[in-house]
Amino acid sequence: MSQPNRNNPYSFNEYLEWRKNVDYYADDPFIQKVVRHFCGTASEKVDTRARVISGKASFRWRDMADAISRPEKWPFMLHYDGHHNRIDRIVRPHEIEIMEREVFGERLFSDSVTPWEKLIGMYIIYQNSEAGIACPLTCTEGLVKLLEKYADTPETKRILMHCKEGIDGHVAIGAQYLSEIQGGSDVGANILEAVEEKGSWRLYGTKFFCSATHADYAVVTAKPHGSEKVALFVVPSWLPGNREKEIRNGYTIDRIKWKMGTCELTTAELTFNGAVAYPVGPLEKGLANVVGIVLTYSRLTVGLASGAGMARNYREAKKYSEFRDAFAMRIGAFPLVKLQLREMDTISRRTTAGSFKLYSEFLGLEGGLKGGLVSDEPPAMRQKRFNVRELIMLQKITAAADSTDLTRKAMSIFGGHGVMEDFSSLPRFYRDAAINELWEGPRNVLITQIHNDIKKAAAWYKPENFITSVLQGSDPSLIREYAAEITELTAHPHLFGDDEKTIDICRRWDQFCTNLFHSYQDLALAEVEGSNR
Ligand SMILES: Cc1cc2nc3c(=O)[nH]c(=O)nc-3n(C[C@H](O)[C@H](O)[C@H](O)COP(=O)(O)OP(=O)(O)OC[C@H]3O[C@@H](n4cnc5c(N)ncnc54)[C@H](O)[C@@H]3O)c2cc1C
Repeated sequence: MSQPNRNNPYSFNEYLEWRKNVDYYADDPFIQKVVRHFCGTASEKVDTRARVISGKASFRWRDMADAISRPEKWPFMLHYDGHHNRIDRIVRPHEIEIMEREVFGERLFSDSVTPWEKLIGMYIIYQNSEAGIACPLTCTEGLVKLLEKYADTPETKRILMHCKEGIDGHVAIGAQYLSEIQGGSDVGANILEAVEEKGSWRLYGTKFFCSATHADYAVVTAKPHGSEKVALFVVPSWLPGNREKEIRNGYTIDRIKWKMGTCELTTAELTFNGAVAYPVGPLEKGLANVVGIVLTYSRLTVGLASGAGMARNYREAKKYSEFRDAFAMRIGAFPLVKLQLREMDTISRRTTAGSFKLYSEFLGLEGGLKGGLVSDEPPAMRQKRFNVRELIMLQKITAAADSTDLTRKAMSIFGGHGVMEDFSSLPRFYRDAAINELWEGPRNVLITQIHNDIKKAAAWYKPENFITSVLQGSDPSLIREYAAEITELTAHPHLFGDDEKTIDICRRWDQFCTNLFHSYQDLALAEVEGSNR
């Protein structure tokens, strides 16, 4: 029992002192084991790189990310300068500009950085959540991968160099503008117009969700005049020499949206009025390339970032449960709390293990996904590519949803402090996680796509063989159960019927997709745990 004390001595300092000193990588034996297991002979190099990046991300960048998350630091627009020149300047706090320079200065997409070094770098950086960095980082990766395949003019080669290695010490940032006011899911329905005028392409029309609007370049989808097919362009935000003068490249930033999460980053509505655009890849292949290359990287990132966020949120909740008392007991000693933390630990670790396993399978695909399902490759390669394509979508929806759930549960361990924005970073992670569920393909769209894909591929890849292949190493009775269910669910003609049978199939398919990917993640986790590396 406690006696009254007008000078209540309670303090959180012990917990805060621990939190201040956590190194995301060096203090996490699990991620080190993941690296040793998946990165094979490269693991020593990856480990070294991880320790360097973690030394910055866990302390300096973490503090900067926290500082810029306050509403008074959110970016705002200056449409005109004092002399009535339209500038559309995005005003951002100085901390973010410094952090961005430092993060992009790591040149994660440079030829000198291996894919695993890049991946672990991103994983560590994502432990600070969006912070105005995560979205542009993955958009830049998508832009780089697109241009590595298609840059064939002096302009596009220079943009590639700018994003990978930097020019005069400045490493460029990419964005991706696909969504329009009439819809974001259906990219094929885009109507932004591209017109070839005197040998160069120009864009006319509007885009409605343009994040990382401060970027140097954007991948933009548009339809060439008279065509029904979406083409892909790279658009510089300023033409050479105009950046300093703040003359944007033939477009205006009409407004920035007021949104729930990723608040340190602008998402804007744009009007293109003759912006100079460089075509990338065959004009008629825009949709396949944007999905097969650009969105593939963003979706992989959602999986990786979800694992990273969960690792931090679980870690901070677990430690709090070892610090805080209620009813004269350590809260971590209550069986309910213990149970919740145990579940969070498993979900967090399996998400991270799953994202590394999937990345290793992705890296094993020469030439990436190649877009679409049509292929003249040998069946084994074709099936491998198909597996990765479907797993990327499954991971996107599962990891994003788990991340929101886990963060909400981790917040609850903090009781009322869990929702206090200035007590921990968890509320910010929660708001950012909700965004991850929506962008880069909302759940319904992706599970519909997966259903379509599996049906379409059935002629050369039976659904049950798909299950056996992606869950290779799992319990055979589990595989049999999934195989029977996928065969039944994909025998249904499509998910668009307006009848009770279809609605029931949808309900089961939705749950099936989650269960299937959880089993893939469990497999990845078992691999890591059973590894003797
Ligand atoms: C913070 C934020 C930033 C963003 N930044 C960008 C950006 O930088 N660039 C960019 O291009 N886009 C961006 N987006 C847009 C995002 O990609 C779209 O919101 C998303 O693609 C969905 O499009 P929509 O909002 O028009 O929803 P809609 O397409 O209108 O969909 C609404 C609902 O219908 C469902 N639905 C749609 N089609 C189907 C189907 N075939 N089967 C079943 N259900 C279906 C969806 O799942 C969803 O639940 C951003 C979004 C957010 C929230």
